[in-house]
Amino acid sequence: MSDCIFCRIVRGEAPAQIIYQDEEVTAFRDLNPQAPVHVLIVPNRHIAGVAQVEPDDEPTLGRLFTVARRLAEEMGITEGYRLVVNSGPLAGQSVFHLHLHLLGGRPFRWPPG
Ligand code: 5GP
Ligand code: ZN
Repeated sequence: MSDCIFCRIVRGEAPAQIIYQDEEVTAFRDLNPQAPVHVLIVPNRHIAGVAQVEPDDEPTLGRLFTVARRLAEEMGITEGYRLVVNSGPLAGQSVFHLHLHLLGGRPFRWPPG
């Protein structure tokens, strides 16, 4: 989608601190980090959110997790990290291009806010 900010980051048309990119997914630092490590991992192809995922997306969705695992190891947060996907406005989704938050480097409480 031409006017989607995460699509523009994936295409290199908007600035971002990209830390990983392959043919399926892109990972970049969150603009407003909520933890010492806060990375967003997104499918390169526009998927608006969990409510729009289809069975054909399963390989791409799996890649989000293997990249999360690898980045957590590389960034030294394997003692504990949190993966978050907000789905819908009530859950706090503000960008409607699916993204996995990788948060680490501090303790996290449960239940989340
Ligand atoms: P959501 O609230 O949809 O789960 O998460 C959206 C996230 O995207 C937020 O944590 C927000 O800080 C981040 N974000 C929004 N716009 C940009 C941007 O232009 N660049 C980067 N790097 N992060 C963004
Ligand atoms: Zn998009």
